[in-house]
Amino acid sequence: MDRSPDAGPDRPDLLGLDPDALSAALRAHFESRGQPEYRARQVARWIYEARAESFDDMTDLPAAERGALAEAFELREPRAESVARSADGTAKHLWRLADGELVESVLIPTPRRLTLCLSSQAGCAMGCTFCATGWTGFGRQLGAGEIVAQYRASQRWAEAHGYGRIGNVVYMGMGEPLANRRAVFASLEVLNRGYGLGARRITVSTVGVVPGILELAARPEQFRLALSLHAPLSELRARLIPLERRYPLPELMEALRRFDQAGGKRITFEYTMIAGVNDDPALIDPLAGLAAEVDAFVNLIPFNPIPWQPDWRPSPAKRLEQFRSGLERRGVSAAVREPRGRDIDAACGQLRANALVELDPSRPRARVAGESSD
Ligand code: SAH
Ligand code: SF4
Repeated sequence: MDRSPDAGPDRPDLLGLDPDALSAALRAHFESRGQPEYRARQVARWIYEARAESFDDMTDLPAAERGALAEAFELREPRAESVARSADGTAKHLWRLADGELVESVLIPTPRRLTLCLSSQAGCAMGCTFCATGWTGFGRQLGAGEIVAQYRASQRWAEAHGYGRIGNVVYMGMGEPLANRRAVFASLEVLNRGYGLGARRITVSTVGVVPGILELAARPEQFRLALSLHAPLSELRARLIPLERRYPLPELMEALRRFDQAGGKRITFEYTMIAGVNDDPALIDPLAGLAAEVDAFVNLIPFNPIPWQPDWRPSPAKRLEQFRSGLERRGVSAAVREPRGRDIDAACGQLRANALVELDPSRPRARVAGESSD
C-alpha cells in the first residue's frame, strides 16, 4: 500500500518533485495567475540553490505571489527533535515529520569529505535479526520530499556548525530504500539534477531487493549500489536476513551481475561481523568468490550490539583484519570500516528505537552503543 505523503491530492510538497515536474507545476501555477514564466525559475532557484525554508523566504517575489504559492503548495520541512553530536564529529538528527513519525539522518565528517546518511522509510519491514531498525518494525514509507528534506535540513545545519558542504549521500539510515522505490528514485533525481550532487556520490544500500537492483541497473545515471551481504552462504544469510528466502543468493548475484554489466557502477558489499555467527575464517573463500564475480569492494563492519540479541558481540578487531587481508590475498579489495559516533547511539535505527520507547515504555529500549557502531 502506498501511503506516501507526496501522494496527497491537495498542496503537493514541492521538495519531492523532480526538477521537470517542479518546473511544470510552477509554470502552470504562474500561468493561471497571469504571471511571467520566469517566476517558475525564480522559485526553483530558491528551492535548489538557496534551500529556502518557506515561501516567505522568497523575497524577490511579490508578497501576493508568495501567499498564492503557500496556498497551492507546501515546502514540508521536518522539525529537529534532537541532535546528538559525537566526540568524533558525527552528528545524528532525529526528525519529527508532519504526522509525528520519526526518522533519523547522520552527518559523518572525515578529513576529505562530509557524508550524509539518510533514511528512506520510518522503520523497516525487513526484520533483519541484527538490526535495531528491523526490531522497531515498520512505520510508513517516506515521501520523496521527506527524503530530500533530510538532505536540505542537514546541509543547513552543517553550514551553521562549520561542517561545510555535504559531498556524499548514502541511503543507509533507517529503512530499505528499494522497498520504497517510487519515492527513493524520485529523491535520487531531485538530489542529482536539482541539487547537483553527482550520481557517483550517491549510494543506495539494499539488503537485496532484486527487482529494485534491476531497476537501478537500468537507469542511465551511475548511482552506486551497496549490498548488505553479511554472509556468503544462503543458509547462514537466511538466519540474519529473512529476505534471503524470497531472493536467495543465486538470484541476487544474477541481479548484481546485471548491475555490474551496466558499466561504471561499482558495487560494495557490506559485511557486518558478529562474533561466532558469520566470522568463521572458512567464510573468507566463498565471500571472496562472490565479490570477485561482480568486482565488488568489501566493507567489513564490526557489529553494533543491540539489546534484542544479548549474546551477539562484535567480532574482535583481529578477526576483521584477518578477513580483510584474506580477501586482499584473493584479489578482492576490502576495508575495515571504522566505527563512527560510538557515543551517540549511532547504530542504524537506535535513536528512533529510544524515542519510541519514551512514547511507549512497553517497547524494548535500545541500549547506548557499546564499543562499536556503524
Ligand atoms: N536497508 C538497507 C539500508 C539501511 S541499513 C540495508 O540493509 O542495506 C544500513 C547498514 O547498516 C546495512 O549495511 C546494515 O546491515 C547495517 N547495520 C544494521 N544493523 C547493524 C548493527 N547492529 N551493527 C552494524 N551494522 C548494522
Ligand atoms: Fe531494514 Fe536494512 Fe535493518 Fe535489514 S539491515 S532491517 S533491511 S534497515
